[in-house]
Amino acid sequence: MNQSIDRDAPIYVAGNRGMVGSAIVRRLHTLGYTNIVTRDRASLDLLDQQAVRRFFREERPACVFLAAAKVGGIYANSTYPADFIYNNLLIETNVIHAAKEAGVDKLIFLGSSCIYPRDCPQPIREEYLLTGPLEKTNEPYAIAKIAGIKLCESYNRQYGTHYISLMPTNLYGPNDNYDLQTSHVLPALLRKAHEAKLRGDSKIVVWGSGTPRREFLYVDDMADACVFLMESGATEGIFNIGAGEDVTIRELAELIMRTVGFEGDIVFDTSKPDGTPRKLLSVDRMHMLGWRATTSLSDGIRRTHESYLAACGATSSHPDNDAVASELALCRDE
Ligand code: GDP
Repeated sequence: MNQSIDRDAPIYVAGNRGMVGSAIVRRLHTLGYTNIVTRDRASLDLLDQQAVRRFFREERPACVFLAAAKVGGIYANSTYPADFIYNNLLIETNVIHAAKEAGVDKLIFLGSSCIYPRDCPQPIREEYLLTGPLEKTNEPYAIAKIAGIKLCESYNRQYGTHYISLMPTNLYGPNDNYDLQTSHVLPALLRKAHEAKLRGDSKIVVWGSGTPRREFLYVDDMADACVFLMESGATEGIFNIGAGEDVTIRELAELIMRTVGFEGDIVFDTSKPDGTPRKLLSVDRMHMLGWRATTSLSDGIRRTHESYLAACGATSSHPDNDAVASELALCRDE
């Protein structure tokens, strides 16, 4: 069942400068939505409850995509656990409550596959939520995201809203964070392979043992799923969003090296954590609704590589490495 949304209805995308938010904005534009509301951090601080309430009172969006979050890879999560739980709890409570107060009927909350128990059966079904202990390296972030799901469920129950939670697998694509300390594995390895090739190095360093398995979804597929759900008749619940297949970190590194054209070796740094051994989502629920990912991992990495080179200015070395990295990291922060 499709729910029609006026093409000129105001749609707020929180986190529009980040990888996912910017992909949602692109998708909405492509589909002809004309009234997309966005704010950068300077004009709306999502940690400021009063400012968020004021914004919602003034803008009165018809729908909301809550793609703003503090996100990061395994090292950032282990190093800054307080930042991850604090920022994410505040962003969620401020936005979801203000949305309800402003009469927003439909909101899409974005979480992460790390909300599921560390050792749960694979592929991971939505029903496995809260059936076992979480992976320690990102537990504070996961707890904040679980709180977001429960906020949506509770507001639906108490206030009759239609707030839906989407749990994407590991995402990648244009506008990702390429800061090696805080990024996720795919952008980190893309950058490492690119720079190793330019420097003529004989190897790249890959953290951990290379054996953990991860599933990767191209961000435009994620944006497609977000808008698909907003337009669908779905009114509540959790929906996993994934590609349906996973690879080992070693296989990922080899694929990236082939794409980049770096022919050196891989050295595994086993002093770094592996994290959860496997994270493959069951996407049956989305398939039943008629949605499927369409971008293969090799195509997605090729496109991401192209956007990375374009962001680098396609120069012979990473231009102004640190400036670009921190700029991207900041974008990703929200
Ligand atoms: P996770 O999916 O929450 O564990 O987050 P990451 O994307 O940061 O890490 C996924 C896996 O890739 C872990 O096993 C990491 O140890 C491994 N990995 C290998 N090399 C890197 C790297 O350079 N950066 C990151 N972030 N992870 C890496």
